Amino acid sequence: MSFTQARIYEYFLEKNDVEILLVENDKECERALSASEFAGLKSFILPDLRVSFGDDLRSFNAELLELCKSLNEYFKFNGKKLLISPYRTLLNPLPSKRNLKTITLSFAQKIGFGELKDELVRLGYEPVGMVESEGEFSIRGDIVDIFALNLQKPVRVLFFDDEIESIRHYDASTQLSLKEELESVEIVPFLANQSKSEFDLSSQKIASLKSDALISDMASLGFWAIDGFEDYLATYRCAFAYEIELDEESADKFNGVGTLPEAAKFRDFAGSITPEFFEFHQGKEIRVLSQNESQLLAFGVPKSPNITSIITPLCLNLTSSDEIIVSLNKPKKRKRPSRKATIVIDELNTGDYVVHESYGIGRFLGLESVSVLGARREFVALSYLGGDKLLLPVENLNLIDRYIASGGGVPSLDKLGKASFVKLKERVKEKLFIIASKIIAMAAKRELIQGELIALSEQERADFIARAGFIYTVDQEKATNDILSELGSGKAMDRLLSGDVGFGKTEVAMNAIFACLRSGFQALFFVPTTLLSAQHYASLKSRLGEYGLKIYRLDRFSSTKEKSAVKSALASKEPCVVVGTHSLLSLGASNLGLIVIDEEHKFGVKQKERLKELGARAHLLSMSATPIPRSLSMALSHLKTYSTLLTPPEDRLDVRTFVREYEGALIKEAINRELRRKGQVFYIHNHIASMPAAKSELTRLIPHLRILSLHSKIDAKTTEDEMMKFMAGEYDLLLCTSIVESGIHLPNANTIIVENANKFGIADLHQLRGRVGRSDKQAYCYFLVGDENISDEAKKRLVALESNSFLGAGSLLARHDLEIRGGGNLIGEAQSGHIEAIGYSLYLKMLEDEINKLLNQSKEQINDIDMRLAVSAFINPELVGDDRQRLELYRRLSKAKNTAEVYAISGEIEDRFGKLDRYTKQFIELMVIKILAIDAGVSSISSSEQNVFIKFISKEPARLKSRSRDDDDVLACVSEYLRGLSV
Ligand code: ADP
Repeated sequence: MSFTQARIYEYFLEKNDVEILLVENDKECERALSASEFAGLKSFILPDLRVSFGDDLRSFNAELLELCKSLNEYFKFNGKKLLISPYRTLLNPLPSKRNLKTITLSFAQKIGFGELKDELVRLGYEPVGMVESEGEFSIRGDIVDIFALNLQKPVRVLFFDDEIESIRHYDASTQLSLKEELESVEIVPFLANQSKSEFDLSSQKIASLKSDALISDMASLGFWAIDGFEDYLATYRCAFAYEIELDEESADKFNGVGTLPEAAKFRDFAGSITPEFFEFHQGKEIRVLSQNESQLLAFGVPKSPNITSIITPLCLNLTSSDEIIVSLNKPKKRKRPSRKATIVIDELNTGDYVVHESYGIGRFLGLESVSVLGARREFVALSYLGGDKLLLPVENLNLIDRYIASGGGVPSLDKLGKASFVKLKERVKEKLFIIASKIIAMAAKRELIQGELIALSEQERADFIARAGFIYTVDQEKATNDILSELGSGKAMDRLLSGDVGFGKTEVAMNAIFACLRSGFQALFFVPTTLLSAQHYASLKSRLGEYGLKIYRLDRFSSTKEKSAVKSALASKEPCVVVGTHSLLSLGASNLGLIVIDEEHKFGVKQKERLKELGARAHLLSMSATPIPRSLSMALSHLKTYSTLLTPPEDRLDVRTFVREYEGALIKEAINRELRRKGQVFYIHNHIASMPAAKSELTRLIPHLRILSLHSKIDAKTTEDEMMKFMAGEYDLLLCTSIVESGIHLPNANTIIVENANKFGIADLHQLRGRVGRSDKQAYCYFLVGDENISDEAKKRLVALESNSFLGAGSLLARHDLEIRGGGNLIGEAQSGHIEAIGYSLYLKMLEDEINKLLNQSKEQINDIDMRLAVSAFINPELVGDDRQRLELYRRLSKAKNTAEVYAISGEIEDRFGKLDRYTKQFIELMVIKILAIDAGVSSISSSEQNVFIKFISKEPARLKSRSRDDDDVLACVSEYLRGLSV
C-alpha cells in the first residue's frame, strides 16, 4: 500500500507552497482532503472529469455543477487553502475566477423580467417548466424559481412589477415556499457569467463545433466554447500527491509538476479498532477522530491520559513509532443527490391509454375548454372505439387512471354506450371478492400459529453484519432489525421484503437464515430459476460458509448423488440451508425454521400451497424486486408485515447517460469500451422479427463479438441455460427485447444500449437504464434515436435524461408503474386476463375496496357526482400555462379526500403560480362542493340561472335559489346549503 495520507499530512504540516494537489480519482480526493485538513489546511475538492474535446457535456452535468460550485467556494475563501483534484480534470481548461463571477438579487431591487431571464440564461441556467435540480430556473407570471448551484434549496423570487417583492427558499420536492424571507441571494454561474457579446460569441462557436450532441447548446457544448477558461496547470502551483502512472499524452502535459516527498515519520495503516487495540498501544500518543461522542462509546475507546478524542468528520489513519491517529469514521462517499420528487408532472401524455371506472379503456387526447350553458369549463377528452369521444369534467379526473398491464401490448379500446364494460367489472368484482376473502382467511389462520423461536445474540448479530465487507444502508439495517425481532417474537412471521434488484435483499435475508441455523433449525430458500439458485448459492457460500454452516443446493443441475445428500441432510434434523427451485418442494424438511422465497409470484398456485404445508411453525420471508403499491400496502398491512429497501448501496454510481442518433461508429465504441474492461453489454432491440438483422449488423461492426439473442418466443429452459452462459462470461452482449428477464443480478453488465429510445415511455427508459449500474463500476447507458423526425418536445424529454441520472419525476413514475405491476404480482393467482381487460390500477383499486370492505375498514363510497353547475370554473391557463402541470393539479384536486386537502392544494397553486384569479378560485370552490356533496350523499347538482337543483342518493331532492345568477353567488348558495347539512 502507498502511504498517501501520511505523505500529505506530513507535508502540509510543515509547508504551504502548493496550491493544487493532484491525485488519482474521487476516492483519493477524499483521503487527501482528510489528511490536508487535519494538517490545518482548508481544502476543496474537484470532481473527476474525464472528457475530451467536443464531448456532449450534458452527460457530465453533475460533475460540472460540482466543479463550478467547488471552484467558487475555493476562490471565495480567504486564508490558507488547498484545491485537490483528480489529475484528469486539469487536462482541460476550466472556468476561471472571472468566469465564475456571481450575481446578487436583493429585496426591493429593480430588475425587469426579461432582463433577469436573459441574465440567467447568460449565467448558464436552463429554463424549465418546473425547477427540480441545480442550474435550472422557471418563470411563471410574477414568480421566478431559481435553483442556484451554491444553495441547498432553490429560491422563489416574487415580483411586483419590476421590483423584487420577496425572496424565499422553497422545497423542490413539494414545490412549497418556506416561511423565512431572505434579504438577498447570490447566484453562482454554471460554467460562466457571460456578457451579451461574450454570449453571442460562444453561441456562434457552438454552432460551428463538430459534435454528436443531439441538441447543440450552451449546456451541452458551452464548456468547449466559452472564452476565458484557464489552464490551471499553467496558472497555479501544482504537485502530485504521490507517484501516478500517466499515459504519454498526459505525461507531456504534466511535465514539470513535482511530487510530494515520501513520508518520513508516519505510515498509513488499516487495522480494526477494538478495545484491545488501545490496550496494545498504551505506550503511544493516540488521537481518535470521531463523528460524535456515542461513536467513542460504541467502539469502547478507553479513557486514558495517552488518548485524546477529536470530534470531526475527517477520516485519517496514521501510525508512527510514538504516535497514532485513528478514525472511527467511515470513509466518506461521494454525496449523491438523493432528491425525491413528490410531484409527478407527466403522468398522462397525449395518446396514452387510460381506464375510466365506468367506460373502460380509451385514449387520452388532452385538455379541452368548453362552454356549457354559457359557463366555461375544462374537460379531459378521451377517445373510444370507433373514434367516439368522451368529455370527462376535470373535477372527476379521479375516475381515470393510466392503463398499465403486464404484457406491454396494445390494449383494445372499449365501446362507449355499451354495458359490456360494466358487466366485465361485475365479473372481476366477484372474482376479487373470492381472492380477498382467501387472503384474509389465510392471514387469520396464520395469526394463530406459534412460530419457532429464532434468536441471535447481539454479539453474533454484529459480527455477521461486520463481515459483510460493506456498510448496510439505513433501509437494510431497519429491515434486518425488524426481521430478527419478529423471528424472536414467538409468532410466525409472514413478511414481504421488497426492493430493487441489487439493493441488498439477499444480504438482509441471509441474516435471517444465519439466525435460523444458529438457533438449530433448517432453512429452505426457494428461487424460481436455476440461474437464481446458482447466484444465491454462491452468496450463501461466501457469507455463511466461513461460520462452518452447512449449505446445499438443489436444482436441475444437481446430480443424483447431490440430491440424496440434500435429502439425508434434511431428514437428519441438522441445521442447514438448502437453496433450490421448486424441485425442493417435494422434499420437505424435518426441522424447518424458516422459508425464504424469492420472486414468489413466479411460483404456481399449487406450488405455493405446498409451500405452506412444509412447516407448520416455520417463518416465511418473501422477497420481491417489485415494490408494493402504496394504496394496497394499507390493506395488506393488516395481513402481512413488510420491509422495503428504497436506497441503493452507497457505492453505486449514477449511470452515465447519452442520448444520440443511431450511428454504427458510436455503438462500436461503446461496446468496445465495455469489452476493454472485461464487462458485458445489454442491447435492446424491441422487434423480434428484425433481430437477426440487428445481430448481423452488430457482427459487421465488431466481427468477433459473442452475441446472445433472446426474446419471449424462446422457451424458458433455453433462455435460462443461455443466461447461465452469459453470466459465466461466455457471451459479450445480450441482444434482447425489453421484456426479457430483468430480475437477475448481472453486475458485470455495465453498458446498456437502447435502440429507438424515442418509442419508449420515460418510465420504461428509467427501468431499462436501471438494469446497469448495480455494482461499484461506472455504468453507461446509450439511448439511440432513429433518424425519423422527432419533435423538439420529445428530444427535450430524452435529453433531460442525460443530465438527470438521479431520482427525478421520471423515476418516480417508473416506480409508480412498477408498484402497480408489483401489486398485480402480489395477488398472484392467474388473473392476467382480467388485469389485461381493466388494467392494473383499477384492478388494484377494486381489490383494495374488497379487502377493506371485508375488514370493515370503509363503507363503499360514491365518488362520481354529476355536477352541472352553470358556473365558469377551471384552473386558468393564464395562471398555470403548462397543460401537464394543470392536468396534474386537476388530478390531485379530484382525488382530494377532504376540504382541507383542497385548500392545501389551492395554497400551493398560489405559492407556485401567484394569486388565484376568479375562475381558478371558483374551481377550488367547486371542488370543495364536490367533497361536501359526497359526504352528504348527493348524486347530482345542477343549476340554471338562479335555480339550483340537488339530487340525493336516498332522500328527496332539494331546490335552492341563489341571491343572483352570478357565479360566485350560485357557488356560495350551494356550499352554504351543504355545509348546513353536515352540522
Ligand atoms: P438483491 O437480492 O436485492 O438483488 P443482493 O443482496 O444480492 O441484492 O446484493 C447485490 C450485491 O450488492 C451483492 O453483491 C451484495 O454483496 C452487494 N451489497 C448488498 N448490500 C450492500 C451494501 N449495503 N453496500 C454495498 N454492497 C452491497
